[in-house]
Amino acid sequence: MTREEFEAKLKEFAGKPIGASIVGRDAVNEPMIRQWCDAMGDTNPIYWDPNFAKTTLHGSLVAPPTMLQGWTLDGIKMALPDDSKGDLQKQLHTFFNENGYDAVLGTNCDQEYDRYLKPGDQVKATTVIEAISEQKATAVGTGYFITTKTTFTDQNDQRIGTMTFRVLKYKAANKPKPVSEGATTQSAAPKRIRPVLGHDNAWWWEGVSAKKLLIQKCSHCKVLRHPPRPMCPHCQSLKWESIEASGKATVHSFVVIHHPVIPPFDYPLVVGVLDLEEGTRFVSNILCDPKEVYVGMKVELVFEQVEEDMILPLFRPVKG
Ligand code: ZN
Repeated sequence: MTREEFEAKLKEFAGKPIGASIVGRDAVNEPMIRQWCDAMGDTNPIYWDPNFAKTTLHGSLVAPPTMLQGWTLDGIKMALPDDSKGDLQKQLHTFFNENGYDAVLGTNCDQEYDRYLKPGDQVKATTVIEAISEQKATAVGTGYFITTKTTFTDQNDQRIGTMTFRVLKYKAANKPKPVSEGATTQSAAPKRIRPVLGHDNAWWWEGVSAKKLLIQKCSHCKVLRHPPRPMCPHCQSLKWESIEASGKATVHSFVVIHHPVIPPFDYPLVVGVLDLEEGTRFVSNILCDPKEVYVGMKVELVFEQVEEDMILPLFRPVKG
């Protein structure tokens, strides 16, 4: 298929609804509001306290606006294998995959809320493939941006909000390509995702380059914090200093990631939340057999030269 033919076919998808509207399994309800607020740590009494809510302009309990899309999601079904042809959005992604654009990256999501939802409201979502961009060359590879727009309506068909979601479907720039029959070549794939350096974290990465694991410490209340950020979450002071960690730590918790496999990591990937000896926590890759790791395991810092110009602070089990 030529690029012209490919792009002409893409144009056929634009402007069309992806399928039938989705009506939420349950109406807006108080138990779900409370569970969501629990998970998000949101204690605003307009979501929790009917007596308080009565005194506000709402007159009764309301749902957090950011739950909007949640009211129309399909639950556990979304995580199960689906061998149906799917809706038009799935068919579009399949078409991209078949033509080599098999990588996907969510790029942005904008939501608008027209009104607060209350228990009893029934939410319906209607999604349209709003636009497919021209071909773009990006840092991750060449591809196309797909914009979908979902309009949410209530039981009276009144609009209650919208969501614009954009993804990039692309050909990964550094995917190894076969050079001839029976021979393959490995491109120089990066070993890690590079940090974005800015005013608030560059000092920390400079420490790492000098093989020092630094921990930010509030100059006012002396509480340690990581990752680096400008303000102390305890006392809101902007004054800070840093101390160097000894590198001794204990596994507080861990996960062994098998899926999804995201380059450039190796799998299964052991990722731990570590209690540093100094009293703050640090998330890091633990270099060990996934079968070996356990909560309470003693680990120690090791600086790994993952690439010529990149050192990372990782952890390994303490021997003996
Ligand atoms: Zn402080």
